[in-house]
Amino acid sequence: MAEIIRSVRGMNDILPEMTPYWQAVETSLKQILDSYGYQEIRLPILEKTELFKRSIGEVTDIVEKEMYTFDDRNGDSLTLRPEGTAGCVRAAMEHGMFNQQQRLWYMGPMFRHERPQKGRYRQFHQLGVEAYGFSGPDIDAEMILLTARLWKKLGLKDITLQINSLGSTEARLNYREKLVEYYQSNQEQLDEDSQRRLLTNPLRILDSKNPDMQSLNEAAPKLIDYLDAESAEHFEQLCATLREAGIAFEINPRLVRGLDYYGKTVFEWVTDQLGAQGTVCAGGRYDGLITQLGGKASSAIGFAIGLERLISLLEAGGTLPETKGPDVYLVAVGEAAAAQSLLLAESLRDQLPDLRLISHCGGGSFKSQFKRADRSGARWTLILGEEEMSQQHIGVKTMSTGEQQTLAWSELANFLSTSHFDNR
Ligand code: ATP
Ligand code: MG
Repeated sequence: MAEIIRSVRGMNDILPEMTPYWQAVETSLKQILDSYGYQEIRLPILEKTELFKRSIGEVTDIVEKEMYTFDDRNGDSLTLRPEGTAGCVRAAMEHGMFNQQQRLWYMGPMFRHERPQKGRYRQFHQLGVEAYGFSGPDIDAEMILLTARLWKKLGLKDITLQINSLGSTEARLNYREKLVEYYQSNQEQLDEDSQRRLLTNPLRILDSKNPDMQSLNEAAPKLIDYLDAESAEHFEQLCATLREAGIAFEINPRLVRGLDYYGKTVFEWVTDQLGAQGTVCAGGRYDGLITQLGGKASSAIGFAIGLERLISLLEAGGTLPETKGPDVYLVAVGEAAAAQSLLLAESLRDQLPDLRLISHCGGGSFKSQFKRADRSGARWTLILGEEEMSQQHIGVKTMSTGEQQTLAWSELANFLSTSHFDNR
């Protein structure tokens, strides 16, 4: 027998036993976004490679080694999106959306050629949220409050907020000099990655996941001590709002984002429940990106939630939303009953559009059909056999009690609706 073909490493199937959880989480996310006035934007998964090089930055991990890039049949270099911000900005510029304030979100797969491990995959999913045309710290606070509300709605507790300010471009450049001096005078303690970053992107050394780099990074000069006055004021106002709103946070001076386009506010929601991959949500302000991509100067801020990590965290905390079987499983034995059962099911669906009904297909004995009904988790099993057919009756078994009764076909819809089937 030929060997079966397996999925690409790091690209996972999300199987039917898990999709109800994904759907429930997605529904909660959408409800909250809608309640804050954020609108969905649907973006292509493929973009021109140039877009990511210009936005994310040539010397980031993503562009240096993680992108899925290929030439298409015309010889154009295309890339599977590693994140959504660049494409969202591209779309907003293309459609003149920066003329007005925008609150936007999107959800979908992202692709990065990383080493697969728990919480780190090559295809993963993000909810991305972006706001354009707001320069003050009020929107920064709104976004953080929105995420806090989300965790509350999902019942998440083991998650903490870290914030930092990356300041203006000039402040970052000044700081960069100090940082390079510091690392140069401790060069023997730098790991290989950090040696390389010292030349290309020294701020990223602070983001190192290597425990051996921890103490060196902890003693490094802090960006927050080099902030320009405007960024310092912006940050102070954000902190004040968060305090007034009762949102606990920690100022983490080593918090930098993996992408180059951030300035001023950055934040992450982290947990210690997921091992090394503890960042569930990450975001910040990226005003500079818009001109970098050829647009008129504007303000922008956004965040992304890693959905695999969010769902793992819900699983770890035992707070995955409940899922339920269908309301009804319809069993039909014999040819005539099988034919009739499909019609009966359609008539019930006409009358009760929210009814969740599985109509047995594929025949088989009463016993085997009942087994399926049981396994489906249905609240009621409806039974149509020869005898019921002859009288236009149907057997109704309430699965939780085992109680059985017989109803006329014409009474069925009324019975189900007055028994309050789950109309989800
Ligand atoms: P990390 O430091 O964990 O590599 P990052 O800084 O590269 O994260 P972002 O680009 O900010 O991550 O993406 C936002 C979120 O998307 C992350 O906080 C995480 O929850 C999720 N994420 C990023 N990369 C992956 C991945 N390879 N697999 C699963 N989730 C991911
Ligand atoms: Mg990364």
